[in-house]
Amino acid sequence: MTKPPMLTAQQALDHLLSHAQPVGESENLPMQAALGRILAENVNSLVDVPPMDNTSMDGYAVRTADTQNSGSVLKIAQRIPAGSVGTTLEPGTAARIFTGAPVPVGADAVVMQEDCNIPVGSTDQVQVNIVPVVSQWIRRRGEDLTAGKTALRAGTFLRPQELGVAASAGLTHLNVKRRVKVAAFFTGDELSLPGEPLKPGGIYNSNRDTLLACLKSLGCDATDFGIVPDNLHATRETLRKASKDHDLIITSGGVSVGEEDHIKPAVTAEGRLDLWQIAIKPGKPLAFGAVRRSDESSQSSQGEAWFMGLPGNPVSSFVTFLLFVRPFILKLQGRDANTPQSYPMRADFDWLKADRRNEFLRVKINAQGGLDLFPNQSSGVLTSASWGDGLVDCPPGQPIKSGDIVKYIPFNALLS
Ligand code: AMP
Ligand code: MG
Repeated sequence: MTKPPMLTAQQALDHLLSHAQPVGESENLPMQAALGRILAENVNSLVDVPPMDNTSMDGYAVRTADTQNSGSVLKIAQRIPAGSVGTTLEPGTAARIFTGAPVPVGADAVVMQEDCNIPVGSTDQVQVNIVPVVSQWIRRRGEDLTAGKTALRAGTFLRPQELGVAASAGLTHLNVKRRVKVAAFFTGDELSLPGEPLKPGGIYNSNRDTLLACLKSLGCDATDFGIVPDNLHATRETLRKASKDHDLIITSGGVSVGEEDHIKPAVTAEGRLDLWQIAIKPGKPLAFGAVRRSDESSQSSQGEAWFMGLPGNPVSSFVTFLLFVRPFILKLQGRDANTPQSYPMRADFDWLKADRRNEFLRVKINAQGGLDLFPNQSSGVLTSASWGDGLVDCPPGQPIKSGDIVKYIPFNALLS
């Protein structure tokens, strides 16, 4: 039997992304329901933001022509709290003004109250103790957003701050992509569900909770098809069911080519499959293909559901999800799916036995601003990922010495 070709992580990713197409359907949601969703179209501002020139300080609106010398005394001719509009500022006068209030016509600067005092014995005069410059403490109309211009771009993942921007632009609802629908199942006769007694020779199914939660973090609609026994019939049947209403099926386990690994023959019988060996650690085997839908009346317009089979080891399935499934899902969602952003950081550890594969080490930022390494980097030790706050992307054959600058990818950036 010929060995499948070894791909680099980038080659595998490029191949995956060349297939994925964004889902077409969108829905119109009230602002709060749109959190964590992806904008289906550009959002144009309905108004200028801010809608008028206004003050960013409590103080006095003045004409700089009247305050060319420190100590100028002006008559307080009006009072403008936030939410009300003053009148034209006459020469020689000042307006008492409060943060957010419109700057009156004629005024060209605001002096904060700390730079002013009321002359002794006066009630309607202010002494300006500085020489203000034009525009100081004035937030200009439209400096944030301009009416009719794009405030948010299609494909944007909506975080709290994007909802705020859309609200500031005057919108109540947003057109977002429908959720990507992903089915997940887990192969392995050794698996038990937490809550049940462990079978002899058994292990709890941890990939279920890790992977379903990864899907939720990305805003997918995730369906759990449970634990599937290690046989061809059960695997094929679950694939047929899962293909029906889902854009993508993911599985864990059974992607090696052992006698008990049924993913390859099952997906091949129900559709098509490539089994890749990727030169990464943890990870290595990854299956990518598609499963035909028998029921053409199903929601999706395509005749097949994408398939991605992850390795069974808990760290391997987590890391391959983050590196390959996540970008694939991002592309289905219509988001930018490039390689995850890495940051140069100092390694405060030695990793001298460099592997021939591209390794992803579980690390944590320490108080000195460097990276510590979790001592056990086995692909079965999931506590390495929960102890850690990210991965070091370690190129093949490159040992790391304490003090070296390495590529750090935070988990946070991979879970949304
Ligand atoms: P496999 O990829 O099926 O050969 O499994 C590789 C290793 O991962 C084996 O030790 C399995 O017991 C373990 N494993 C597979 N699936 C899971 C799972 N869902 N949760 C925890 N461990 C698993
Ligand atoms: Mg297995």
